[in-house]
Amino acid sequence: MAAAWKAAAPDLRASLDAAAQSEDGTVSGELTLEGTWTEEWWGAPPSGEHYRFGLPLNARPRGDRYAFEIALDTPGALAILRELGLVNPPDEMHLPGRTPAQIDDFLLKLLFTGQAGDKACAHLAEARVLHTDVDACDDCPPDAIWPALRLCLTCGHVGCCDTSVEKHAKAHWESTGHALIRSIRLDEGWIWCYEDNALFEKRVLERVAARLGGAA
Ligand SMILES: [Zn+2]
Ligand SMILES: [Zn+2]
Ligand SMILES: [Zn+2]
Repeated sequence: MAAAWKAAAPDLRASLDAAAQSEDGTVSGELTLEGTWTEEWWGAPPSGEHYRFGLPLNARPRGDRYAFEIALDTPGALAILRELGLVNPPDEMHLPGRTPAQIDDFLLKLLFTGQAGDKACAHLAEARVLHTDVDACDDCPPDAIWPALRLCLTCGHVGCCDTSVEKHAKAHWESTGHALIRSIRLDEGWIWCYEDNALFEKRVLERVAARLGGAA
C-alpha cells in the first residue's frame, strides 16, 4: 500500500510525533503523512493538491513485537477520504460519487478498522447470498439516488450505503441483526461487518464463495 501512495504522491513523507508511553507500555503518537498528489491513484485522476494528514497512532506491545493501530473513528476516516476527493462532501452524499476511484481494500480496512489484521467475526460463517440483480435500494422511493448500494449477505436485502441520506443498509442491520454487507458493485470485493466493525478484503469473499460453491 505504501508503494501505491508513493506512486500517487512521489514526494510523500511520513513522520511520527509526540510519542508518549502509557503504563501498559502502549506508545501513542501522531503519524503525519504529507505529499502532493500528482499521479493517478487507484483510478482517480491526480488533484495536484498538497495534502497533510495527522493520524492518531497507537503501538501496543505484544510479546517482543508491537501491534500498530490507527485510532480513527468512522467520521475521521470519511473526512480523510473526503479531503482527497474520493468521497463526496456531506451536502452531496445523495449524488453519485464525483471521482471514479476504486479505493484499495487494504486502505479501507486500515482507515475504518484501524488495523491491518483481520478482526474476529462469527458472522462470516452465516453468509448465504453473494450476488443480486437488484440495482436500487429496497427501502428508498423509486426516484431516489445514493452514492452506493450494499447487499445483505444473510438475506439478500439491498440498501443504500452509510454515506447516503437514509442509510437503509445500516437500518436493515439494526432491525434484523444481519451484520454482513458487501458493495453491490461486483468489481468491489470487500465485506463489512456492522457488529464487529470488521472489514475483510476480497480474498475472504472468495473463501466464502468457495464454501457456497459459486463465484465471488
Ligand atoms: Zn461479524
Ligand atoms: Zn435507501
Ligand atoms: Zn438481511
